[in-house]
This record gives sequence, C-alpha cells and structure tokens, in this order.
Amino acid sequence: MNSPSEYALPHIQKLHGYTPGFQPSGDGWVKINTNESPYPPSPAVAEAVCQAANDSLRLYPNAKAIPLREEAAKLHGLKAEQVIFGNGSDDILNLLVRAFANEKSAGYLMPSYSLYPVLCGIQDSGTVEVPFDRSMELPFEALENLDANILFITSPNAPTGVGFSNEDLARVIASFDGIVVVDEAYGDFADENAVELLAKYKNLVVTRTFSKSYGLAGIRLGYAMADAEIIDILDRVRDSYNVNRLTQAAGLAALKDQAYLKEVVGKMKSTRDRCLAEWESLGWFCYPSAANFLFVEPKNGAGESGSEVAESLFEFFKANKILVRYFPSSPLTDSFLRISVGDDDQMLYV
Ligand code: PMP
Repeated sequence: MNSPSEYALPHIQKLHGYTPGFQPSGDGWVKINTNESPYPPSPAVAEAVCQAANDSLRLYPNAKAIPLREEAAKLHGLKAEQVIFGNGSDDILNLLVRAFANEKSAGYLMPSYSLYPVLCGIQDSGTVEVPFDRSMELPFEALENLDANILFITSPNAPTGVGFSNEDLARVIASFDGIVVVDEAYGDFADENAVELLAKYKNLVVTRTFSKSYGLAGIRLGYAMADAEIIDILDRVRDSYNVNRLTQAAGLAALKDQAYLKEVVGKMKSTRDRCLAEWESLGWFCYPSAANFLFVEPKNGAGESGSEVAESLFEFFKANKILVRYFPSSPLTDSFLRISVGDDDQMLYV
C-alpha cells in the first residue's frame, strides 16, 4: 500500500494549513497576542447558556439560526434574509471561498488576514495578492484592475489596524466586477462601518465576529450580511447545523445587550488610544489603529529599530509570560510587534 498521504488530492498534499495564534497552557500569562477581549461577555450570556443547556440539548439546533438572523437584522437595519451565521466568521469566509472562488482567482491584500490564502488553497482556486505600500492605504489602481471573482478586504486591516473609510471602500466596490468581502472582524472598534454600503452595492458582503468586541472567542460565532441572493447561495453551501444550540443562545443574549458591548468597546478604545500616544512619545512608530490591537515598531534605548529590537522585545516579553505577536521583516514592512489591547492592568506590562 502507498503512504496514506499519496491518496490525498495533489493540491492538498502541497497545502500548509493555517497556524492559529499561540494559546499557552497554565496560568499567569498576560495574553495579548490573539486580539481576544480582556473583558468577560455580557452577564446575560452565562444565564442564557445555562438555560439552553438545561432545556434542549437532545434536540438539533435551529438549522438557520433564525432568531440570531432576526436580531442581527434588527440591529443593522436589514432584513433577516440578508444575514447568515457561522461557526466563527472563519466558517463564513470558508463558505464564501467555497461558493465564489474559482480557477480565475480570489484576490486579497498583503498583509491582511492570513486565512484567505489557506482557504483558497483548500479549494485549489487561483489567488492574486495585492500588496499595500508602507502607507497601508488601499492601493486603488491595482484593485481597480484586478481580474478576480471575489476580493477580500480586511477593514480595519489585520495586522496593521488601519481602517478604511466607506468612501474608499465604495470606490473599490463600485469598480470591481465580482464579490467584495469586507471582513469587519474588528468593525465594532472602528468609527465607520461598511454595513451602510449594503443598501447601494449588491456585490458587497460584510462579515463580523463575536470573538473580539463581544468577548466570545470561545463560543465560535460570526455572521455575514449581504444581498438576499448572496445569502441564499451561502445557505446552499453551509453545513445544516453549523451553529450549535449553546452558541445560538450565547450569541442572542450578547446581541441583545448592546449597552454592555458599547461599554467594553469604549474601554478598549480608550486604552488603545492611551497606549498609542505613550508609545509614540517613546519614539516608537505605530500605525493609527481602528481595531483592538496596535501594530508597533519598537525602538531600543538608542532610538534604533530593526528586527533585533522587535524580536528581542518579543523574547523578553515571552520569558516573562507576556504574549504578543512578532512579525519579522518582510518586503512590505520592517519587523513589528502586534499587541492586542488588554485591560489597563495588562497594558502596564508593555
Ligand atoms: N477575520 C479576521 C481579520 C481575523 O483576525 C479573525 C480572527 N483571527 C477572523 C476573521 C476570524 O474570527 P472568528 O473567531 O470569528 O473565526
């Protein structure tokens, strides 16, 4: 018999899977490496999950997560037919690639969320990487001439944190002959959201997650908003019960407590802006962030930057149980640290 991997499809044999951010075991870590919220979710969530656990776990969940679709639609001023939920927004991104990425190609910006090329690799679709320049503003000319079926724009972008205005996004969406996905995983921390562009553009999909602002990374819940025709297509690709009962209960309770969301997002934004100002006063370079993390180029005592400075700071933090994310230098950026916005106590360490 051949080795089992030889039976895998040729493009899967070549594939490198996605490496999620490091999750340490044991206690005592200051964990500011994967952009989770430092705050617990709304207290209404635990109550709703306990109730759902007691009531109905022997039954399958609501297949289309209709109560969640209705609540999210109400929140964003849309129709329930314009919303779909998934097992994290990664599930939604996967549905989008399954449905729309073909051999012609899927486009995405570099740097941005590194899952897009992996999903395209699984699908064996073509890909086009569009590089940012160091300004990290949208490269309009390259995007306007892109020959692709689907285009992913992360806004606010990861790992830079730079948010794009609706005016800039509209310019790209209007000129693009295909589906544009604006991945708003960090959208709750931004001043502008692409949701309002849905009224005008039928080729737009906006995705959101409960993993960051809602403090619910552990429950795996995300959603997409788009024209009802796009949602119908995604529903055909979706696993029938892709959002379990406990997650549906948790998500519904969290969505209904917008006052709590506003309070924690406000706290994170003020911590973010304070840290940015402090690091800038040290002479560090930091992109303006519309997200819950900062992409920062640290300098040493002599005011020099470079890969040794960022890497040695990363190693020093790690040795002291403080986890941040290190980005080695690339043709597009020098070496940076991406530091998630923790609570004020956690941020005393960095
Ligand atoms: N999009 C971006 C830009 C992200 O950074 C992440 C989280 N790593 C996701 C989507 C996926 O989030 P979720 O936890 O909802 O799958």
